[in-house]
Amino acid sequence: GCPGRLPELKGNIRVLCRLRPGTSSSLVSVEPGPGGTVTTCYRGRHRRFRLDWVFPPDASQEEVFRELEPAVLSCLRGYSVCIFTYGQTGTGKTYSMEVGHSPRPVGEAPGALHDLDVSPVCTPPHPQGPPEDPGIVPRALQSLFREMGAGRQHRVTLSMVEIYNEAVRDLLAPGPPERLAVRQGPEGQGGIQVAGLTHWDVPNLETLHQMLKLGRSNRATAATAMNQRSSRSHALVTLTLRAATPPRAPGTAGTLHLVDLAGSERARKAGAAGPPRGDPDGARRLREAQTINRSLLALGGVMAALRAHRPHVPFRDSQLTRLLQPALGPGTTAVLLLQISTRPEDLGETVCSLKFAERVG
Ligand code: ADP
Ligand code: MG
Repeated sequence: GCPGRLPELKGNIRVLCRLRPGTSSSLVSVEPGPGGTVTTCYRGRHRRFRLDWVFPPDASQEEVFRELEPAVLSCLRGYSVCIFTYGQTGTGKTYSMEVGHSPRPVGEAPGALHDLDVSPVCTPPHPQGPPEDPGIVPRALQSLFREMGAGRQHRVTLSMVEIYNEAVRDLLAPGPPERLAVRQGPEGQGGIQVAGLTHWDVPNLETLHQMLKLGRSNRATAATAMNQRSSRSHALVTLTLRAATPPRAPGTAGTLHLVDLAGSERARKAGAAGPPRGDPDGARRLREAQTINRSLLALGGVMAALRAHRPHVPFRDSQLTRLLQPALGPGTTAVLLLQISTRPEDLGETVCSLKFAERVG
């Protein structure tokens, strides 16, 4: 780890930016590193956005996690940390957050060939599909459990929800998933309660991985049934790490929220003038896009208000911000991983995403 970075993280919103690899364009250029920039040329206008960290276009999953690990591990000292992936559908949010499939063939070219700009004409087939390259969630779990060690001094609990069209569903419900009600907690405690949400006590890393896989498949099942629903919903994984033994005071809990946000593309793409006549699917898509826009706007509004230390923070504007209220309050750390495309046809969305980052970061 890199404990020296932690004080800087505490109570801050940091914005990191990752590019969807495989495409390149002269209309989006980056200067990677800390305080890096993304420069766009859209409709003849150049704009430069400065972020807390910009990854080089070929950044690996490991490289991305290295930047996040200090924040993740701070949960073991009682901090509350929230990591989001934000961006247009198809830019790699789920890839970064969950499990990416490496585009490299198993039989990789030997080292020396990597330095040349050549690629093999035929690549050997993969018997088990392309190799998996774990993303933020599995790496965070592994890192936390490694740090806790064998004689675990923490109790780990897990919950996992999906927000689709402002309806909150338990992805790890013991029975069939039902719509859950989000309520304000007792006065003065500032918390919220999700009635009926299951919190699981997780004994070990292996079980945790299995439960997350189950939760993901519950999200994915809905996706096939409802036309790519997974990219139209927010998925929230919440881990609570409670110190169980001295010297830490029992009951001190750190929380890690890992949030794969719905695609941020604007409603105009789904037809801002209203759904095409006689297209019931179009009406549904429009409603989806509008509720997503509203909740992402609410998230931006909350983060901007927190950053400016405004007395009123509009947590109640969406289910997403209501659920995340305890995770975004004073003394917490939020990291927004902005995923952008460099394709010319996506430029409008890329600029929108960067403007969002500028507003909150
Ligand atoms: P999103 O969740 O933002 O809609 P996905 O994570 O589903 O996007 O990514 C879209 C596609 O791009 C997937 O096929 C994914 O494997 C691929 N992809 C995204 N980011 C990367 C990356 N850094 N390296 C290789 N492939 C990637
Ligand atoms: Mg996705």
